[in-house]
Amino acid sequence: MQRYDQDTLAVRAGTERSQFNEHSEAIFLTSSFVFESAAQAAARFSGEEAGNVYSRFTNPTVTAMQERLAAMEGADACIATASGMSAILATVMALMSAGEHVVASRGLFGATQQLFGTLLPRFGITTDFVPASDLAAYDAAIRPETRMIFVETPSNPLTELVDLKSLAEIAHQRGVKLVVDNCFCTPALQRPLAFGADLVVHSATKYLDGQGRVIAGAVAGSQADMDEVFKFLRTAGPSLSPFNAWVILKGLETLRIRMEAQSAAAAELAAWLEAHERVARVFYPGLESHPQFRLAQRQQRSGGAIVSFEVHGGREEAWRVVDNCRLLSITANLGDTRTTITHPASTTHGRIGAEAREAAGIGEGLLRIAVGLEAIEDVKQDLARGLALI
Ligand SMILES: *Cc1c(COP(=O)(O)O)cnc(C)c1O
Repeated sequence: MQRYDQDTLAVRAGTERSQFNEHSEAIFLTSSFVFESAAQAAARFSGEEAGNVYSRFTNPTVTAMQERLAAMEGADACIATASGMSAILATVMALMSAGEHVVASRGLFGATQQLFGTLLPRFGITTDFVPASDLAAYDAAIRPETRMIFVETPSNPLTELVDLKSLAEIAHQRGVKLVVDNCFCTPALQRPLAFGADLVVHSATKYLDGQGRVIAGAVAGSQADMDEVFKFLRTAGPSLSPFNAWVILKGLETLRIRMEAQSAAAAELAAWLEAHERVARVFYPGLESHPQFRLAQRQQRSGGAIVSFEVHGGREEAWRVVDNCRLLSITANLGDTRTTITHPASTTHGRIGAEAREAAGIGEGLLRIAVGLEAIEDVKQDLARGLALI
């Protein structure tokens, strides 16, 4: 399927049909599969014969989703998991051992930060965190036992970018793998493997579903790496349910048009906010004022759908904007067709403490908008109400 454009792959890759020749993909809600004979059962279990055995290992609906996402990321293969967090855990478990080391960008998704910073050290895997855009800092943090660099780009909520091509070169010179959480851009806007990254992980819960229905995750990369991830999945069991795989499979078909529409609306909102007198600063990679605007243009198809901004004032003023919203959903989630608004300092980044927030540049006046598919004029009006009261 590689010769087709990504848009074609999004609706056509991974569509092997059953005996009934269905047009839309079937959902195989079955825990296990039966065999023609004892000999076939033995051959399937040993791996001598390809085919399904048990849905913790493989399932046709899950396989279809994996093939489609792999094609869209330009990867050899993909393994789906029960959540974005289990995709990250599976990647670490598959590729690392006790005593080894990770270099990660600062400002990762909260649970990812907890995983690398608190949970994995109990099992002998340690992590150093470095500023996301500081290439020299990654290089300096690499040690003989470092196996992996793990990054998110753009970062949340301040939209700091990692130069993937340059970082992949550094990683490979030092014999380290580069893993990219591509949740914010998705393959519709950014393909990390094309810039030299080794693996891509996803919280499919976000834009890949795009409609806030299921929890799901995935890892994509070389066949050799995916074989290792599969061994972990098969044994440890954070497998994706076939129903959820089917939801994601259908979500992927509309991913590109959703991302384009949501990004275009976000760009318009960012420009409007930047011109608003009650707004002190806007963080959006699609704005020329963004310090990494040129890198964003090289690396991403557009600025993405997440816009953060600082109001003049602090928590009180920011909360006033939130509390005067009638349309926007007040929630920390993102990647939905419905626009969401978050005050990071008191929610997603509330537990890290004031000092760490200050160091990360997350002020009390900061708000994050994940732009959905409503008419952007309605979104502006919803924000204008609170902004006028500052
Ligand atoms: C949500 C999210 C995750 C975790 O995904 P779940 O599906 O909630 O487990 C990981 N990384 C990023 C960037 C996220 O936004």
